[in-house]
Amino acid sequence: MNAPFNPHAPVIARAASERGPANPLRQRGQHEVFCGLTSIIWLHRKMQDAFFLIVGSRTCAHLMQSAAGVMIFAEPRFATAVIDERDLAGMADVHDELDKVVARLLARRPEIRMLVLVGSCPSEVIKLDLAKAAERQGQLHGPAVRFLHYSGSGIETTFTQGEDNFLTSLVKELPAEPVGARQSLIVAGAMADVVEDQFRRIFDALGMGHVSFLPPRNSTALPHVGPNTRLLLAQPFLGETTKALDARGAKHLLAPFPLGEEGTTAWLKAAADAFGVDPGRFAAITGPGRARARTAVERYRPALQDKRVFFFPDSQLEPSLARFLHRETGMDIVEIGTPFLHRHHLAGEFELLPEHVFVSEGQDVDKQLDRCRTARPDLVVCGMGLANPLEAEGITTKWSIELVFTPIQGYEQAGDLAELFVRPFARRDRLKGIA
Ligand code: SF4
Repeated sequence: MNAPFNPHAPVIARAASERGPANPLRQRGQHEVFCGLTSIIWLHRKMQDAFFLIVGSRTCAHLMQSAAGVMIFAEPRFATAVIDERDLAGMADVHDELDKVVARLLARRPEIRMLVLVGSCPSEVIKLDLAKAAERQGQLHGPAVRFLHYSGSGIETTFTQGEDNFLTSLVKELPAEPVGARQSLIVAGAMADVVEDQFRRIFDALGMGHVSFLPPRNSTALPHVGPNTRLLLAQPFLGETTKALDARGAKHLLAPFPLGEEGTTAWLKAAADAFGVDPGRFAAITGPGRARARTAVERYRPALQDKRVFFFPDSQLEPSLARFLHRETGMDIVEIGTPFLHRHHLAGEFELLPEHVFVSEGQDVDKQLDRCRTARPDLVVCGMGLANPLEAEGITTKWSIELVFTPIQGYEQAGDLAELFVRPFARRDRLKGIA
């Protein structure tokens, strides 16, 4: 069912000028997304003494097992308490079932210091008051084990909301800043440990003092928060977390996100300026990393330059990725679809994107597919559910979820990030060679 090449595509690109970030195309139709449980796949690797217990159905258990691809004997730090039909007769049964599951789990895994109850979308689970359930478990097993709860339900709009909901619940646990505390920095948003270590080395070299990452690697290392805390977001999808930290007194440092050489430099600079780092020192510390990042990305530029990319809304990383691809690899942006447009957080990204860029917020999937087929982009970044049908129509795709699982932030990862977008073209060339 190949759609023919559309010679009128430039007309669509011109119409795009009316749909910039200030006036995006807003669509509230059928949308194609993963549920927020998916975020447990990267979160459970971050906190060494935390455990994510999904209160859900067999569907949730299957999703997690297949998406995470973790063998049970690998002792993953997540599991599903399956609330089956027997439990639906009454909430008392659900609480009894949870009591049993939690007691068994804590007996078998005594290293757990934080147990996170994660809500899901089956109607029976929605009826359960998860806050009360967490409080009840806290009374049974606290204070040795801390209980948190959040919703990872498929009713939320997109899978990265799972991390936002988790961090929002974690913010409530952060201790208050001691009186007279000096300025400190919280970097919010899960990143791979290797990336976090690289940033920590840079912050240390800049002499920035007390820098913490949220989530921390251990539940006993929660950073304090208060009016002397500055907040730097490592991920753009943390709207609720930002509000929660703001309510605790933290001040958000606005910056583009640390993708590519340019984004990483601007992100580090926002923090360095807030901490009064001398510009000469900043240039000296970041210079070698910037040069390495530029060289690494340059290698992939010939494969990407002038290619046209279309983003379907999925991870909420779309505007930042578009900025990186446009500015550092020379790709043209056909449409930036994003589930939510955190305009305030993304202001720095849109300043670096062309004024005429087409932005859509939310989704009406059939209409968006029509726009995509008409525009015939060289590459579509989308969720897994849309990738196969589009590939079958001859459109090259990239799974957006891969960009959340892969270390892509920072100078040392800039080349890898570019390479992730070259791979789909290489795969298509190989397939053509086979055909
Ligand atoms: S939370 Fe809902 S959408 Fe997600 S796996 Fe469970 S049943 Fe499916």
